[in-house]
Amino acid sequence: MRVGLVSVGDELLAGDTVNTNAAWLGSRLTERGATVERCVVVPDRIETIADTVAELHDRYDAVLVTGGLGPTHDDLTMDAVAAAFDRDLETNDEAIEWLAEHGGYERADLAAGTADLPAGARVLHNEAGVAPGCVVESVYVFPGVPEEMHAMFETVAGEFSGTISHVEWVRAAEPESALLDRIAAVRERFDVTVGSYPGEHVRLKLQSDDAEEAAAAAAWLSDRVDVAEPADESAEAGSS
Ligand code: ATP
Ligand code: MG
Repeated sequence: MRVGLVSVGDELLAGDTVNTNAAWLGSRLTERGATVERCVVVPDRIETIADTVAELHDRYDAVLVTGGLGPTHDDLTMDAVAAAFDRDLETNDEAIEWLAEHGGYERADLAAGTADLPAGARVLHNEAGVAPGCVVESVYVFPGVPEEMHAMFETVAGEFSGTISHVEWVRAAEPESALLDRIAAVRERFDVTVGSYPGEHVRLKLQSDDAEEAAAAAAWLSDRVDVAEPADESAEAGSS
């Protein structure tokens, strides 16, 4: 399953907020075997959000959008998703009833627009906040607040799947440029993809659909690079 992510928010583009939602979703989706093919960060602007959602919807099996829910002036995501599918935005009675039952909010207490969703959308309830999310075709809309997004994602996590690949890491205490020959050799010899992530050490990621192949490649490479001492690894824990 190929997936696109859309992160909505001026604050992400300005660097006021770090886009932890995209990293968290990338990790959870990959864990489930889904492949994240693209992640786009867009401002709080209806046309840009709508165009991006429509484009990624055409291209991928599912699109996950975070941020910009709720009733404040810069919360435009539901309007944009409705526009992308040429649907109206309507107050969703199921969402209101759920909030009355679980959140103690009566319709009159909710800020106008809180439960407005694209017509015909499937509601995703917000167990950790107020504004509901939704699913329209294969586009999933989640809140921006990380805790709310995490809780809501878990309610639909089972809808994302694919071939789970096996990963082995080798940490090399050599400059990346010095490793090029052995990286080329391991790629040639084994059916693995290789990621090379320089930092204090170079973290080499060996990935395959076959666990034994990934393990064999890691063993072969470990014999041929200057493997970083485990004691040194703790110094890098923050970068992993
Ligand atoms: P609410 O339902 O509470 O209105 P929301 O869906 O409207 O939430 P935003 O208003 O976009 O979400 O953002 C709420 C908070 O979550 C802000 O503090 C914002 O910086 C943070 N946030 C939004 N997007 C992300 C992201 N991609 N990664 C990390 N934090 C984020
Ligand atoms: Mg908001």
